[in-house]
Amino acid sequence: MQTNLIELKNIRKTYKNIAGVETQALRGIDLSIPSGDFVAIIGPSGSGKTSLMSIIGLLDQKFEGQYLMEGKDVRKLSSNKAAELRNQEIGFVFQQFNLLPRTSVLQNVLLPTIYHSRADDDERALSVIKSVGLVDKMDNQSNQLSGGQTQRVAIARALVMNPSLVLADEPTGNIDTTTSKEIMNLFKKINDQGTTVVIITHESEVAAVAKRKVYIRDGVVEKETKT
Ligand code: ADP
Repeated sequence: MQTNLIELKNIRKTYKNIAGVETQALRGIDLSIPSGDFVAIIGPSGSGKTSLMSIIGLLDQKFEGQYLMEGKDVRKLSSNKAAELRNQEIGFVFQQFNLLPRTSVLQNVLLPTIYHSRADDDERALSVIKSVGLVDKMDNQSNQLSGGQTQRVAIARALVMNPSLVLADEPTGNIDTTTSKEIMNLFKKINDQGTTVVIITHESEVAAVAKRKVYIRDGVVEKETKT
């Protein structure tokens, strides 16, 4: 039997501020994501998308419920083990791109390899830069690119460690509609090549390329559709 890449059972997340006031951001999320899936998590502002992404991305281990990633119980991992798993298995793409300015495209893409350098780092960086169509911009500084090109660099950086999962948070939030479509087609290509993709968005057009759409509202899964 194939295990799910991600298995979330009754995930709850509560924030407590210094006055002791609690906000229940996630109120019992159940979600299984098999390897090779392409899931869009859709919900309005405040529905809990960012909280869920932080948990799925192993950035937040303080939650209730059970999260198994590749069968490993995430809450039981030390923070070092969680960081290692994150670095090796998850590539992140953010709305704000989060590239280093005044640093070349190539150096930005090589960034995740610093923690786990391998002999073929340059080769893999070149290959992912090719796959996002930016070989001619490889030596440009990241601040000399358009929004769409900048996001392509961020996607190449997310792919350089050959992750099992690419996790994208509102990846088209800062780019125009035409460029958005190109970026979404790029995620589709990445998924077609076997990488699991999870995209968080509040826009249904962006979610249209995904195989599965999971709607969340008020911290619970409201409904799910498949294409
Ligand atoms: P979304 O990404 O869908 O906008 P979030 O996960 O950011 O949703 O937020 C869900 C709820 O949790 C909101 O009510 C938000 O105000 C609250 N929240 C998010 N982060 C924090 C935090 N660090 N401290 C307190 N409340 C938070």
